[in-house]
Amino acid sequence: MFLRLGEVPAEGLNVEVSLESDAPAAKSINADGPVKGTFRIEKTGSQLLIKGSVRGYVRLDCSRCLTSNRYKIEEKISVELRPLSDTGEGEEMELASDDLDVEYFRGDSLDLDHFIEEQVRLVLPMKPLCSEECGGLCPSCGEATGSDVCTCNVEDIDPRWEALESLRDPDRDKGES
Ligand SMILES: [Zn+2]
Ligand SMILES: [Zn+2]
Repeated sequence: MFLRLGEVPAEGLNVEVSLESDAPAAKSINADGPVKGTFRIEKTGSQLLIKGSVRGYVRLDCSRCLTSNRYKIEEKISVELRPLSDTGEGEEMELASDDLDVEYFRGDSLDLDHFIEEQVRLVLPMKPLCSEECGGLCPSCGEATGSDVCTCNVEDIDPRWEALESLRDPDRDKGES
């Protein structure tokens, strides 16, 4: 969905956007079902202030066991959008206040699908885990440890016990002789 900046009235605008899972922006973040944006959009001069929330689900691969998992996105946002022509690319940009993200837009319309995609990207974990206790991949079968496909019962033999065993044997031989 495109928002024409000329359509934002002085008193602001409330917008509900549903990014459907077959939209390119949704596919690029692996959306699982629609991602919904509820925005309050206000214009301050040439800038836009967008506040609201982004909610939905994406699928992420666990960084340890590689299984695909549903991950909930529920994020409050507060973003200031500045037109690129205001700053000039490559120029040093002034820092935003703590609670406000600053982004940039080009032209006279804003692609809200892309905007939602970016907001989701910002909150995705670098190393997603299916759970904190994820045991990673089974060393025996290569599937996720504890999953339905892994039926191995891997008895970990502690190498230190093996070392003790080999120490004990010569002792026993000595006693017998
Ligand atoms: Zn995992
Ligand atoms: Zn296994």
